[in-house]
Amino acid sequence: TQELHIVGGGMAGSEAAWQAAQLGVNVVIHEMRPKVETFAHRTGNLAEMVCSNSFRSDDDEQNAVGLLHWEMRAADGLIMATADRHRLPAGGALAVDRDPFAEDVTAALKALPNVRVEYGEITELPRDGQWIIATGPLTSSALGQAIAAETGADALAFFDAIAPIVYAESIDMSKAWMQSRYDKGETEEERKAYLNCPMDRAQYEAFIDALLAADKTEFHDGETAGYFDGCLPIEVMAERGRETLRHGPMKPVGLTNPHQPDVKAHAVVQLRRDNALGTLYNIVGFQTKMKYGAQTEVLRMIPGLEEARFARLGGIHRNTFLNSPTLLDAQMRLKSRPNIRFAGQITGVEGYVESAAMGLLAGRMAAAEILGRPLPEVPQDSAMGALIHHITGGAEAKTFQPMNVNFGLFRPVDGLKGGRRGRKDRYKAYTDRAKAAWQDWLGAMASAA
Ligand code: FAD
Repeated sequence: TQELHIVGGGMAGSEAAWQAAQLGVNVVIHEMRPKVETFAHRTGNLAEMVCSNSFRSDDDEQNAVGLLHWEMRAADGLIMATADRHRLPAGGALAVDRDPFAEDVTAALKALPNVRVEYGEITELPRDGQWIIATGPLTSSALGQAIAAETGADALAFFDAIAPIVYAESIDMSKAWMQSRYDKGETEEERKAYLNCPMDRAQYEAFIDALLAADKTEFHDGETAGYFDGCLPIEVMAERGRETLRHGPMKPVGLTNPHQPDVKAHAVVQLRRDNALGTLYNIVGFQTKMKYGAQTEVLRMIPGLEEARFARLGGIHRNTFLNSPTLLDAQMRLKSRPNIRFAGQITGVEGYVESAAMGLLAGRMAAAEILGRPLPEVPQDSAMGALIHHITGGAEAKTFQPMNVNFGLFRPVDGLKGGRRGRKDRYKAYTDRAKAAWQDWLGAMASAA
């Protein structure tokens, strides 16, 4: 049978290789390190953790990333099994002893008779054969250019500028209201795509003071080139002048507050719907390098967001990623070249766990295609399914930015209480439903073998 070629032996590539090899497919991993280095990796190991050593929460009943752990374990995932073997004490989080972890992943893959690792950089998009590209946020520049040439430069980003994303249900609608600026929009849907939070002068001035005083993260060496085009962090805008934000993303024009129709707001923070379900909203123009603790504190000063919960906080990073909602099909194949799948962070997920998860799916999908086996659709109610559905279709393509797994990506469960009080029951219902759906899917795959 046909070989599967995987470019990049990181979190996603390693898991994809393991999954396909377990199904009997011959796999070649092409990894450029240690011959060609990145600014973040330090070793030549596969699956190197480049920064923190945490896989985040391991709670599979109340946390979406913990649920993803559970689903990967149920699918015999290499990354999770190895992480479990090198677990460090860290309360409810899964912290990992990074060097032995990466060494073990490398050894486990090399020990398989049907996996071969070839060290060297891939610089072109392959014309023939079955390929998975999992080259991550620091994809080499030659390959990045080859991808951009195929997808169009606008569809491949080299930076993310993430505005914080808020759970819709945590916004106080007695203060906020729905309206697009100047009531623009063809349809009712479009006019409802925006939420507005008003500020008076005192609130605005206090907000600017807090922005200026907040703790910020520095850029890594070699990370900054190009970031100043059109995505200035809000704190940098505030540094340029106290009125800059009021004339930029916080301008109060074209809006009428139905709660106080006679009062003209001094500034308005706008939020834009971030997914088709309408469960998530991003704060427009609010990309930031504030540290996470400072960020939550400062953002909760915004009227209507006092109790906000964040599906993801803002950030600006070097990050190569595709506009997946427009470029990839439901199986993560490049629509224009279906012999190539993408997996991992380059598909617009964010984080070690999410990247490994998308590698797991891509490996199984490619293997099923090579072996000519049927592949039932990944259930949307599983964490895996919620994530792949978001990147390949559910997310707004125009404002697409990398995403962590979170419960805002899940279809609501009927008949449960909303708001803060019902949250625990709701999350348990999501995770119960997800586990059952995922088990069914794994069962269906096994019986197709
Ligand atoms: P990677 O794990 O990066 O693997 C991609 C692999 O492809 C690498 O081994 C690379 O050498 C190889 N490669 C690239 N180009 C080529 C080519 N042309 N030919 C052959 N091989 C190639 N996530 C977290 O969860 N927590 C964090 O704390 C965190 N910190 C981060 C800090 C930095 C500076 C960066 C850049 C990212 C960070 N991330 C973090 C994101 C993290 O990198 C990803 O979540 C995860 O590693 C992505 O997995 P991946 O398999 O998609 O990419």
